Amino acid sequence: MSASHAPYPSLNQAWYALRKSFVEWRWEEQLEEVLRFSESAKIDEVIVVVNAEEFNVPHLDIDSFSRSRRMLQTIRDELSSDGIVFSLNPWTTTGHLDRGRTLPGHLRGVQTMTDIDGLSTDTCCCPLDAGWRSYISELWEWFAELDPRVVWIEDDIRSFNHTPIDNSCFCPLHIGAFSRKTGISCDLASLSEKLLRHGSPDPLRRQWLAFQNDVMQETIKVLVDSVQRVNPKIMIGLMSSGPESHVLEGRDWPELATILRGSAGNFVSRPPLYIYEEKSLSELYSGPTSIRRTRVAFQSQGIELSEVENVPFSLYAKSQAMTFCQIASSILSGCDGVTLNLFDHVGSPISDTPEYGKMLADSRGWLDSIRQAIPGKAPFSGIGLLHHDQSAATAFLDDGNGYSGLRDRGDGWVRPLEALGFSTTWDLANCDTVALSGQTVRSFSAAQIQSLLEKGVILDLEAVQCLADMGWGSEVTGVSVSKTGPIHSFGPLAAEHLHHPEFGGGKGVFLTATLPDLVNDGQLGLFTLASDAITISSLVDNELRGICPLFTLYQNSLGGRVATLAYNINTVGHAGGFLHPYRKAQMQKVLEWLSDGPIPLRVDAPSRVLPLRQDGPSCTLASALNVSLDTWNGVTLHLATGGRLVKTVESLNESGQWAEVPPALLDYKPDCLEIHSTESFQLAKPVVFRIVWGGGNILL
Ligand SMILES: [Zn+2]
Repeated sequence: MSASHAPYPSLNQAWYALRKSFVEWRWEEQLEEVLRFSESAKIDEVIVVVNAEEFNVPHLDIDSFSRSRRMLQTIRDELSSDGIVFSLNPWTTTGHLDRGRTLPGHLRGVQTMTDIDGLSTDTCCCPLDAGWRSYISELWEWFAELDPRVVWIEDDIRSFNHTPIDNSCFCPLHIGAFSRKTGISCDLASLSEKLLRHGSPDPLRRQWLAFQNDVMQETIKVLVDSVQRVNPKIMIGLMSSGPESHVLEGRDWPELATILRGSAGNFVSRPPLYIYEEKSLSELYSGPTSIRRTRVAFQSQGIELSEVENVPFSLYAKSQAMTFCQIASSILSGCDGVTLNLFDHVGSPISDTPEYGKMLADSRGWLDSIRQAIPGKAPFSGIGLLHHDQSAATAFLDDGNGYSGLRDRGDGWVRPLEALGFSTTWDLANCDTVALSGQTVRSFSAAQIQSLLEKGVILDLEAVQCLADMGWGSEVTGVSVSKTGPIHSFGPLAAEHLHHPEFGGGKGVFLTATLPDLVNDGQLGLFTLASDAITISSLVDNELRGICPLFTLYQNSLGGRVATLAYNINTVGHAGGFLHPYRKAQMQKVLEWLSDGPIPLRVDAPSRVLPLRQDGPSCTLASALNVSLDTWNGVTLHLATGGRLVKTVESLNESGQWAEVPPALLDYKPDCLEIHSTESFQLAKPVVFRIVWGGGNILL
């Protein structure tokens, strides 16, 4: 067994895997740089990106690849002799996008990906094309012969986002294979009409998604088999694009995990963090969501290295602080480590951006301590969110959206809840209250929905409408919807009046209804309340006249508690105007009422935070990131204890040491522990606490 085939030496640390390309005119110098950088920045693995980005040819010619062989072998040998794991990341499989390229001669005549309107790409190959399959199979055998620890499959192995087209593949090969498989005779026009039918979906859509899933699984199996024919121990890595998007191709994640594992015994998952270029701090919420949702989709299988990627590179694209926040939130979200695509692919020296390396070295001990404190796969606690692999099969479409309208929007509550300080979880078995948005709930059975409605549920407008379509009307949700439209189609609406004194309301407590901003209108519904439902806030017009209920509460006949919001949360929840200290107070009371007690983790801070709570067998990790540019003098965390005794509470200091929190900074309330951190709380300086429970296992 070569060095690169040893298992990951230890995942009991925060694994650093540098993704790095080499250019043919200075690869030897680059190798020297990488070796020096790996030592100083504590890099464990180098994933060599082949045929990357700007200088890529659409599909690497096997002969030209063979000319790179000496370079790749040298890189591998030099890395291995320094104890660094060597892996490979071919930058394309089917191809990401055209960028003015055309198909090379060796693939001339290959079918390219085609969208639902019949538009084709110039270079992205249809995965059903026999010529492309034969080519890619041979190429991937060559990769395997280089003896890497992992060969990574890029996320271009997907049906969507192949600019200039959005969704594929509706080419003649696909339509012919679908017709043969199902016995349904169809052409592009009839298929399109059925897939995009408004309202209740045509049953054909489910068959189409199952077919798409079969094609992608078959394609990925071609890649896995090509590699593992050469060496059955080489692991496969997969970059994915978020379960909310892979519903567009009906991805069955557990089946995919089996294929990816192949003969190697395990595989590596690379969930995206989405912030490639830094634009807004609030984008930081997308990473922990993507990581934890992908893990739930994969049913906790695989090694997880998140994707920290700073395209188009340098500190101009992403600050050191944002890069650190992505790494820290990845590890706090349970990842085994991170992949680091920090340096450009046009051959610039690493020394142009020394700041990243220093940050990596300085952070390593702190990150390792988190990894060692709790098993990465331990469940998270918070307000629950729904994921379903097949949600595109059940989603209703309307005039406003085409095939992309099938993307899942079940995460609409994540950003507002977390920003206000309330932790969330995709581990549905680990929560008492769930927050529904989008149409995800349509994929759940009557028994599953009933069990949700017997507990605590918070619904937005779209979720209320979905439940009503499925027969769960005002008798269980407390409201029915008689009209929907843009907020200001209801008249000169001014504000939400929070009027219920037990739910953060009072005289003169208003929140803006200009949502999400001055020029756009969110979606609003007109609720009619069941007789026992109550309103805790209403929308008023510019003369303070009540126009319609906004937030309502209801105890249903199933014994459950339901809170409903008349906004479509996906259209307003990200807005600064939706968030406010009044909203925080209102949501705290609503969530405590739904949970009938303390919330798993509530972080009380003046502005946006990112709270995470993970429960291991004997301890809990509770953390918070400050998602603002302001420095705050301390922060308070409120944790539900479930009646358990607390043995110790420790905080993680900057050098990665756990130190006991003085008793004076702890308050014990009924079923709730309060931790008062007095240190300055700022961006890129998260607070992390380890709570060790006294006796017994955690049962939440
Ligand atoms: Zn096709």
